[in-house]
Amino acid sequence: MSDYDGDALNDEQLLRYSRQLLLEEFDLDGQQALAGARVLLIGCGGLASPAALYLAGAGVGRLLLVDDDRVDRSNLHRQVAFRDGQVGDGKAEALASQLRALNPDVAVEPHATRADPAWLEQHLPRVDLVLDCSDNFATRQAVNAACVAHRRPLISGAAIRLDGQLAVFDLRRPDSACYACVYGDGTDGDLACSEAGILGPVVGTVGTLQALLAIHLLTGTPVAPVLRLFDGRTLSWREVAFKKDPGCPVCGDRSKPLPA
Ligand SMILES: [Zn+2]
Repeated sequence: MSDYDGDALNDEQLLRYSRQLLLEEFDLDGQQALAGARVLLIGCGGLASPAALYLAGAGVGRLLLVDDDRVDRSNLHRQVAFRDGQVGDGKAEALASQLRALNPDVAVEPHATRADPAWLEQHLPRVDLVLDCSDNFATRQAVNAACVAHRRPLISGAAIRLDGQLAVFDLRRPDSACYACVYGDGTDGDLACSEAGILGPVVGTVGTLQALLAIHLLTGTPVAPVLRLFDGRTLSWREVAFKKDPGCPVCGDRSKPLPA
């Protein structure tokens, strides 16, 4: 399976992507941008389920999936990419098989491992964009540090109980804030869905919007750098502005040379 060429869409692809090709803001240029894009999704759970399905459906050229977990029956109410028959399977491969079934144009790379700093250092340079769909602060901080070091845009999503959070850090820009500018650089305070609970449509809403933001970034549609907070009780959104913290321990000194 290879990365397809958005320059030369065949009849099947013209039909597959016809409804988004109709959009003035998207057009053939947008399709070509997606076809040439490589996107990394960190975690293959409730955020990545809709995010990966929409990105595969839209025709992103290559999707890298990383998760060392296995599908549990308690995941199925929110991790909507999985089927009951996949309980016990590795999540990265299980999600990859659904994406391939949805759109054979897309090259899908499952990695059944943890996205630790060493793995990120190896794979970040290969991708254009990162979606953080993980569920713990240690991974979030490692992903942020790698995105800062390699200047890759980071779309961060999170959800617990009936609350969701969504933010874009366009780290291609030297003046962009990073995840640690907003949340600090600590790794304490993880609150697991297994303890706190979560409603499926809440995490699904955030994951869906991570996919929309990814399409915007890949096709050059401007995205405001704000933190978006979703209240699943009232279905209301609140926007919180943030700025780069000059004293941030992760991105504060951008005069550092890029890694080779
Ligand atoms: Zn920062």
